[in-house]
Order: sequence, then C-alpha cells, then structure tokens
Amino acid sequence: MRAVIYHEHGGMPVLTDVPEPQCPDGGVVVAVRATGVCRSDWHAWKGHDPVSLPHTPGHELAGVVAEVGVGVRHFVVGDRVTVPFTCGCGRCSWCEAGEAQVCPDQTQPGFTGPGSFAEKVAIHGADTNLVALPESVDFVTAASLGCRFATAFRAVVTHGRLGRGDWLAVHGCGGLGLSAVMIGVALGGRVVAVDVNPAALERVSALGAAAVVDAGGAVDVAAAIRDLTGGGAHVSVDAFGSSDVAVASVRSLRRRGRHVQAGLLLGASSTPPLPMDLVVAQELEIHGSHGMSAREYPAMLTLIEDGTLRPADLVGRVIGLEGAGAALAAMDRPTAVGMTVVRL
Ligand SMILES: [Zn+2]
Ligand SMILES: [Zn+2]
Repeated sequence: MRAVIYHEHGGMPVLTDVPEPQCPDGGVVVAVRATGVCRSDWHAWKGHDPVSLPHTPGHELAGVVAEVGVGVRHFVVGDRVTVPFTCGCGRCSWCEAGEAQVCPDQTQPGFTGPGSFAEKVAIHGADTNLVALPESVDFVTAASLGCRFATAFRAVVTHGRLGRGDWLAVHGCGGLGLSAVMIGVALGGRVVAVDVNPAALERVSALGAAAVVDAGGAVDVAAAIRDLTGGGAHVSVDAFGSSDVAVASVRSLRRRGRHVQAGLLLGASSTPPLPMDLVVAQELEIHGSHGMSAREYPAMLTLIEDGTLRPADLVGRVIGLEGAGAALAAMDRPTAVGMTVVRL
C-alpha cells in the first residue's frame, strides 16, 4: 500500500510502498479516506515528541473498517468510523470508566505506531475507541474532529463548563483555537481570541468572536483581556502551547475562572511558571485536556448533525496523499489559516 514515511527527524517525508498493517486482536484495520495534517505530527517529525524511525505520521483519521480482529463485538467490515487520537487499551479501570484519553496503556496512531498518512492503518481496542459516523458527516469533516476539534470541545464544554454569556478567552488561533472559538460562539459564549497573525484574527471575527487581541506588539495580553471582559474571562484556553501563553491564559481569568491547557507543552515549554498565588487567592481552576474519549463523541456529533457546530468550515485546504509530506514540512513556517486535510 502507499504510505508517507520519513527516515529521520526533519528529513523530508516521502510517499512510498510499504506492507499493509497486521490486524491486531481486539482491533481493526481502517481503510483511510481522509486524514488531517496537525501540528502534533510536525512536533513528532521534528523530534520534539520522539517516535521510532522510520515513521508514518497521521492521527486525525476517518475511513471504513477493512478488517476486524478477534474479539471485536461492535464493528464490522464496511462501517464508517473515526477515532480519537488517544486510543485506550479497553481493559484498564480508566477505559472501563470511559476515560480512555488518560489510559496508561494508550496507543496513538502516528505516534506509538504507524499513522494514517497511508491507505490503511491499524487501530487497537476497537470497541473502546471506534466512533461510528452518522451518514451526514463526511470523511473530510470527520477527519478534522479526532484531535483538534474534539480536544477543543472537551476543553470548552467538559473542563471549561462554558455557560451562555460567559467570556471565553482563546489563546492561539490555529486548528485547535479556531475550533474552540467556533464551539464557544455556538454555545452562546462571548469569545475573545488572541493571535499574532492578522489573517487568523480576521477568521475568528468571521466565526463570531466578540473581540480579538493582536499579541504581536508589546501588548500585555492578560491585561487586555481583563479590560475587554470587565474583570477577566470565565474560561481561558491555551490553544497554542507555550510557557508564556499558559501564564497569560491564567492571568486573563476572572475570580473562580478556569484555565484549560489544551495546547501541548513540550521541551523547554513544559513547565510554565504559573502564578499559583493567584490560583489560591482567586480560586482559579487549572485543567489539562488530552483529547476526548470515544464515549463523549455522540454529544459532539449531535451538535454537528443539527448544524450547531460546523467543523467543515474550519477546513482550509484538501490535498492528496502525495502532498501530505510537503504539507507537514511546511509547518516550519506560519501556515495558511484553517486545517489541511488529506483525502484518499
Ligand atoms: Zn486503558
Ligand atoms: Zn492532532
């Protein structure tokens, strides 16, 4: 089958022929129909989040079940499916409680094994991790859900508990941030979005953000948000993932506000100096958000089916598998606004 692989961190990924994946017991092989190009793939490619080499990236996938392993009960060949980027083992207490996103034995296609920049990909723990796609959700849309959109949904809804009229601050307007803005607006929140890219700020305004902050100058982002929101945001999401942004996000909260760390903190960024004095005095909440388990997908899919959420609007570019490697490498530079999805 055709797959995109790279042989060294930072080496140009190439489209080549590789053996088809073996179907794991309890798992499936999915024939990939669409797969997103995400900054987490770029981090792995650069070696920030090391993977074993050679490697096939890709973790935001949708497709059709092509093969079913021993012991799978709820899925058959031909089912249209997607998966969260964190796939639980299906056996531990976390998975049994529906919290596969923190499973200690999780697998992640495109990180712990070959990913979905390929015609086929193996998925472990099918009954725990596969999400059946409604007919009305097409593959390109579904591929945009697994990582960034679902992570944003869990950040804003489950951790943030955003209420109607609440202020939501979104720091960073890449795929994750744009998703958080769309979800916040759809739920009746008032959104203030932060980025350094004027095109991204235009995009969030079009999505219904009430205010934007251009973080490009010498502006104190947290102070600007506290001003705009009359005392601070009820919920603030670091959708970028850096030490400075995490601190600014916490400082932009109002009393009893909730910070959600959804952007990955890697390497030098991994231990931000958070103002824990404020956390105590103002009873702030700090949440980590690590994707979303399959169990929570139906609530999100219902809002997509009824048109409340329109993730397809966040897809900026649809390309072929032959362009996937170049699209990944292009993340070295600021990229076009919106998500890039590969269609097979
Ligand atoms: Zn587990
Ligand atoms: Zn991703």
